Amino acid sequence: MENVELYQKMHEMATIDSLTGIYNRLYFQERLREEIANAKRENYDLSLAIMDIDYFKRFNDTFGHLFGDKVLKHIANLIKKSLRSGDIIARYGGEEFVILLPRTSIKEAYDKVERLRNIISKTSIKDELVEASVTVSFGVSSYPEFSNTESELLKTADNALYEAKESGRNCVRIPC
Ligand code: GH3
Ligand code: MG
Ligand code: MG
Repeated sequence: MENVELYQKMHEMATIDSLTGIYNRLYFQERLREEIANAKRENYDLSLAIMDIDYFKRFNDTFGHLFGDKVLKHIANLIKKSLRSGDIIARYGGEEFVILLPRTSIKEAYDKVERLRNIISKTSIKDELVEASVTVSFGVSSYPEFSNTESELLKTADNALYEAKESGRNCVRIPC
């Protein structure tokens, strides 16, 4: 392999999640730090959404882990296609994704992920043997309305996700 090619490959491995092709958690954390700093400097709203697939353990148990993987790829792609160029989506954990929306208020972010939630719930995913769908829950928060730092932004979005799960899943919640 040429040096340039090797460098590109290593950079990709360090920033991209291999299953879904979207950014990984490490890269996301770096970008979150930069984006918060930009939002502070330029004085604009920054929203963060955390998404978690509902009852995904049971889904895997029913349809198999490979089909579960297919669902993860499909949802990652679906979300990626719906984003603007400055938005960032990453795989945050196993079946958790994060979306960072610069210059987006909590209201705009809520509307956007509510549309996504609705689309995902109506999407059926199939292979040769199986056809199935999943629902997802979202927690959304924003700077500066609900947080002042990256860790506060993550924490308030995560708490909102917890509320979404508590309210019965397949819904979007913001901090109260
Ligand atoms: P909840 O609605 O509360 O989120 O229920 P849940 O079952 O989704 O939550 P839990 O955190 O208990 O389980 C997450 C499951 O996600 C467990 C694991 O089987 C599945 N999972 C995590 N990473 C992957 C992956 O890379 N591929 C597949 N197929 N499944 C994964
Ligand atoms: Mg989870
Ligand atoms: Mg889950």
